[in-house]
Amino acid sequence: MKMSKLFVQTLREFPSDAEVVSHKMLARAGYIRKLTSGVYNFLPLMWRVLKKVETIVREEMDAAGAQELLMPFVQPKELWEESGRWDAYGKELMRLKDRHDRVMCLGPTHEEVITAIARDGLKSYKQMPVNLYQIQSKFRDEVRPRYGLLRGREFIMKDAYSFDVDEAGLDKEYENMARAYKRIFDRCGLATKMVQSDSGAIGGSVSHEFMVITDTDAGENDVFYCDNCDYSANSNHAVSKLPEAVVDGKEYFTQTKVMDTPNTHSIEELSAFLNIPSTLILKSLVYIVDKKPVIALIRADKAVEETKLMNAVGGIDIRIASSAEIAELMANHGFDAVPGFIGPKGMDDIQIIADETVRDMKNFVVGINETDKHLVGANLEDFGIKDLKYADIRLVQRGEFCPECGRPLLVTRGIEVGNIFKLGTKYSKPMNAVYTDVDGKTKPFVMGCYGIGISRTAAAAVEAHYDEHGIKWPISIAPYHVTIVPVNILDELQMKIANELYEKLQNAGVEVVIDDRDERAGVKFKDADLIGFPYRITVGKTINEGLVEFKTRETGDIEKITPEKAAEKMIEIVKNIK
Ligand code: ATP
Ligand code: MG
Repeated sequence: MKMSKLFVQTLREFPSDAEVVSHKMLARAGYIRKLTSGVYNFLPLMWRVLKKVETIVREEMDAAGAQELLMPFVQPKELWEESGRWDAYGKELMRLKDRHDRVMCLGPTHEEVITAIARDGLKSYKQMPVNLYQIQSKFRDEVRPRYGLLRGREFIMKDAYSFDVDEAGLDKEYENMARAYKRIFDRCGLATKMVQSDSGAIGGSVSHEFMVITDTDAGENDVFYCDNCDYSANSNHAVSKLPEAVVDGKEYFTQTKVMDTPNTHSIEELSAFLNIPSTLILKSLVYIVDKKPVIALIRADKAVEETKLMNAVGGIDIRIASSAEIAELMANHGFDAVPGFIGPKGMDDIQIIADETVRDMKNFVVGINETDKHLVGANLEDFGIKDLKYADIRLVQRGEFCPECGRPLLVTRGIEVGNIFKLGTKYSKPMNAVYTDVDGKTKPFVMGCYGIGISRTAAAAVEAHYDEHGIKWPISIAPYHVTIVPVNILDELQMKIANELYEKLQNAGVEVVIDDRDERAGVKFKDADLIGFPYRITVGKTINEGLVEFKTRETGDIEKITPEKAAEKMIEIVKNIK
């Protein structure tokens, strides 16, 4: 490819709406152009990268025994009603009507469609196991599309679905996919951590995410891990052992009584006012789960993890209650307390979930739905809560200990590039997707599903490989392997050598761009660094001594070698791409 012909426009500045490195770099280097919020054009350079990621994914999925197919992007409502997800899936599901008023949606994922395919096609245990996958654009009307390709509304995903006759078969395929994923991300030049995670709206019992670790904003997930043993988990799922804490307030409060606690709206204010550790305070928080209020109780030095709470309630949507909703809840129960003084008292018709930290608490301090007052020396039995449910709803925090080996947990941030789920019969049962087993009985398929964000993976590779000058693509997914830069296109010898090299490399299957533009060398070098060609061969004045410059983008190393040597070296590098 000639640079003068390549469809790419690099920008002088980063776009003003770009917050993270990959968005900034990909936009400025001319890979992507925004069409509308969360929707991007993949320009030729980007498309080459995406196709390479796709090829790696295809090769490894095929090698792992999966078969590729392609399902429609638009799906009918009826199918989603069968699985029960039409109502359950939130606003991310883009719903629309056709000219006959039939209701459809844009595919955010394809469990329903694939389950219907299996229902029609897999009749006997003899046909299993099967793993079917596709690579396709998905649409999700994300609340906060941001970070460019990392969280778009339209994005490219690989989604695979496995069908087995039993759990043992699923377990085996799950391991098989985990190994394939490791190879895929390794080949893309990405170090990933496989972490335990919540199964979220897709449901199922076990799931893992593949995280690219990055301590920047681009990592939307907190990952807790132990460097002594293998434990690692997304914060929405992580558990820990707690350091010892004061849980019995006997020496502070010998009797149960109401105390005036004026203006103690926060835990800090309350523990300072009473001169007690915060571990003696029971914190009561109001959430709205699936439109209904829920009260969460937790030891006040700890925080609630919303996904865990949502799962404990069995809901699919959660948010913290607004002050207006809290006021309404109070009014409905004959109270008028402001936040800071809320408690489980008199809330019998509301679902109350207590964190495991609450179990041991005795003679503690708690709000009683009266502003400027708290009950001290209190115990949960005092409130006669009928349906009290205990669950682990606690957010793990730095300084807590590994649940497996007891060493301190570390925390970092991660970009989720892929995930694997054991779905079990979550879709096959409600959709009546069954096969006839060896014993002649009909049974629902045991399913797994396995996703990889193709476009997110490409962006994550930029997050992991860049410097202040631009992108440093891993060669396996770079749009081109090398750029040849003749410093002065009017210099005959320089152009002759550059063109000879260009042809030689091209004939050897090396993907090469020759920068034949009539620009200053500085401009060409800047663009080469920004675009992120893994190698640059510069043909400049030293050609008079028979030498070119061979630069490695990753390390910045420059070697002066003969054009023949440079070509050999480049061909060898490309031959060794995994
Ligand atoms: P997230 O928690 O980041 O929203 P998810 O749990 O919704 O991800 P899945 O539904 O399992 O993800 O989708 C599979 C893969 O698709 C993810 O691992 C991720 O790589 C990618 N993906 C999901 N949502 C987006 C998005 N909005 N933009 C780009 N890629 C996405
Ligand atoms: Mg999502």
